[in-house]
Amino acid sequence: MKSDHYLNKKYKIYNRVYFRNRLPRNICVFYGEGYCLEKVHVHGITRCTMKGCCGSWIRIIPELKEMKCVAFMSLLHAMCHLKALYAGEVYLNHGWKWQREMKRLANIGAFNNIW
Ligand SMILES: [Zn+2]
Repeated sequence: MKSDHYLNKKYKIYNRVYFRNRLPRNICVFYGEGYCLEKVHVHGITRCTMKGCCGSWIRIIPELKEMKCVAFMSLLHAMCHLKALYAGEVYLNHGWKWQREMKRLANIGAFNNIW
C-alpha cells in the first residue's frame, strides 16, 4: 500500500491542528478497496495498533477521490478511531470515546466547510 500524497498531507495537518500531534505521525493514509459496499455503507476503514506508525493505516474508498469533502470527513472519522484506541476504546467501535472525539472536533470547527 502506498500513501496518497494529498490525503497524507491532510492527515498531518489535522493531526497538528486538531490532535496536537498526538496521533502517529507517519501512518499510511491511502485510497483502496476492501468492503462490500452493497451490504454496508462504509467510506473507509482504520487499522489501529498500539505500535503507532508501524502497524496503523487509514484506507478511504477510491470513490471518494472526487468527493474531497466526504473523503476529509471520513479521514477525521478515522482519526477519531485512532484517538479512541489510544484512550482505551475497543478497536473499530463507535463507543463513547469515539463519540466524544467526534463531538469535540465538531465543536472546534474541524468539519466547517466540509459537511
Ligand atoms: Zn468508524
